[in-house]
Amino acid sequence: MNIAILGPQGSGKGTQADLLSERKGFIHVETGKLLRKIAESNLPLSQEIRGIMIRGELVADHILEKVLNTALESSDEGKSIVFDGTPRNMVQYDLLKKILSERGLKIDKIFMINIPEEESVRRLSSRRTCGQCGDIYNLITNPSPRGKFCECGGELYQREDDQPEAISKRLENYRKETVPVLKSAQEDGILVEIDGLRPIEEIYKDIEKNLKI
Ligand code: AMP
Repeated sequence: MNIAILGPQGSGKGTQADLLSERKGFIHVETGKLLRKIAESNLPLSQEIRGIMIRGELVADHILEKVLNTALESSDEGKSIVFDGTPRNMVQYDLLKKILSERGLKIDKIFMINIPEEESVRRLSSRRTCGQCGDIYNLITNPSPRGKFCECGGELYQREDDQPEAISKRLENYRKETVPVLKSAQEDGILVEIDGLRPIEEIYKDIEKNLKI
């Protein structure tokens, strides 16, 4: 079964995708993380991608296509996949359908984790990431027991695109580009709406009961 989890920034998509990967063996395809890796490398496109991400804009669809193809080529055939943060616009929705159908697969469900914009801003501004292991904390809802350091000892930092200007650009993109995808998924009969203002485990249970596995 292949699913996508969408929702405004900070809605907890990554957390739920991680749980599906740990508990149900889903392959977690997180385009934001894959793109951050490219941005931090020395590949020809790195500088350009880095600039786009810092500004909170969307990376071009043809770059995303390469990222998705590479991720799928290196993933185990036959395993369920959870796409986290893709498709972010209508072109990507069609692209994902095409890439999957070339492999005899389809998008079975799209989960939309809903939170209000004010909550998005609140969560993103207080999000901190470990520079060493990549674990994510939140100063308000999930602070590290070691203060400015992760439990692994790494120093916590604030992502450049979690600054106010980039946050509002990302939310604007969500409204303009991603909301039409949700409408289309609803017409396709594969949209499942989830209330994201609840504890992680409750949200997980809601997702789990909508999986056909
Ligand atoms: P995220 O961690 O999902 O918020 O993604 C961080 C940034 O990566 C976004 O603001 C975009 O610049 C880029 N990005 C992630 N996924 C996509 C996508 N599907 N299409 C275009 N850009 C993306």
